[in-house]
Amino acid sequence: MQALILFGPPGSGKGTQAARLVERYGWAHLATGDMFREALSRNDPVAVEAQDLMKAGRLVPDELVGRMVRAKLQQLKNEGRWDGIIFDGYPRNVAQVGHLDAILTECGIALAGVVALEVEDELLVKRLAGRCSCPTCGKTYNIHFDPPRTAGRCDTDGSTLVCRLDDNEQTIRERLRVYREQTRPVIEVYRGRGQLAVVPGSDGPQPVFERLTAIVDPWTGRHDR
Ligand code: AMP
Ligand code: ZN
Repeated sequence: MQALILFGPPGSGKGTQAARLVERYGWAHLATGDMFREALSRNDPVAVEAQDLMKAGRLVPDELVGRMVRAKLQQLKNEGRWDGIIFDGYPRNVAQVGHLDAILTECGIALAGVVALEVEDELLVKRLAGRCSCPTCGKTYNIHFDPPRTAGRCDTDGSTLVCRLDDNEQTIRERLRVYREQTRPVIEVYRGRGQLAVVPGSDGPQPVFERLTAIVDPWTGRHDR
């Protein structure tokens, strides 16, 4: 079992790239933000506890996130989905790096490496503020870069598009501040361990994906390029 950490600020394209990597390698995707939002839609008490912090763009307590990650790994193991895993949105501060180290050791998972997507702040704000998605089919849009044919409606099924509660200008600024202060230092930890690759992420999804796979394929033992 191998793991990859996809790292980067909010709006750097971690979710988009993780979905493509999952398709390429057949690995599982563990996105802590998605897990919280999904738990919240089920009114799970864990997420209800986290809700106000998420709405404000602050980090949820480490202990809560760690518990959720452990539970998800147990579930993947039970389902026999134990080839590889992509962490997206975790670890998010230096303490969580230590927690993840312990979890990986416990579960016998080897960290293949960490890829950090780099995107300038101005573009991050534009991507996040313009982002919306279809609640029916999951397709994502951006009103600036990739708008639907009819405003506010999914091209595929006509559903009304929705935005994340934390994708408003004020919360976006707070999320970027939290990223700079608490999350970005994580990069230095992995750089110090010689496990970090940095990838420019300001282009469209395809060129970024090509850069990513050029780095990750060899880590996974895949050399078909
Ligand atoms: P994301 O979808 O990754 O942008 O995460 C949405 C929100 O979920 C964040 O703003 C945090 O409130 C919370 N969250 C997600 N992952 C973590 C984490 N690893 N540690 C703490 N909070 C997290
Ligand atoms: Zn749709």
